[in-house]
Amino acid sequence: MHGGGMPARDHNETLNFIEQACAEKGMRMTGQRRVIARVIAESTDHPDVEELHRRATAIDPGISIATVYRTVKLFEDAGILQRHEFGDGRARYEPANEEHHDHLIDLNSGEVIEFTSPEIEELQRQIAKKLGYKLVDHRLELYGVKLDREDNK
Ligand SMILES: [Zn+2]
Repeated sequence: MHGGGMPARDHNETLNFIEQACAEKGMRMTGQRRVIARVIAESTDHPDVEELHRRATAIDPGISIATVYRTVKLFEDAGILQRHEFGDGRARYEPANEEHHDHLIDLNSGEVIEFTSPEIEELQRQIAKKLGYKLVDHRLELYGVKLDREDNK
């Protein structure tokens, strides 16, 4: 489940996006790369390399963590993956073809909740404009603890 009414993801669409981007960049799609691409396409969270490796080896036990690192780097450089760091120093990834969204990180569970806010988007456009810029991109991360926990009231 995703917060903030994020549209459901189409895994096949994402896999097509990755394969097409690889083809356009002339990147060879080896069997192992294809498995890693599939794992990425099927992930709805924001896995790090170790988690991607765990999922990939469930399909092909021969895939090394080094291969996952290399492939993820390759995909990132090709604009296929977006890298995030949500405050814990670990790089996490999600496909770059997703619609723009922001993230809220639950500091207790580590859960990453996706959301979009037209008001925030508009406010950021206005701020950029006031500073003499046209906004082309932004990243926003909120860090929070659940309100309904007794110790957070
Ligand atoms: Zn996300």
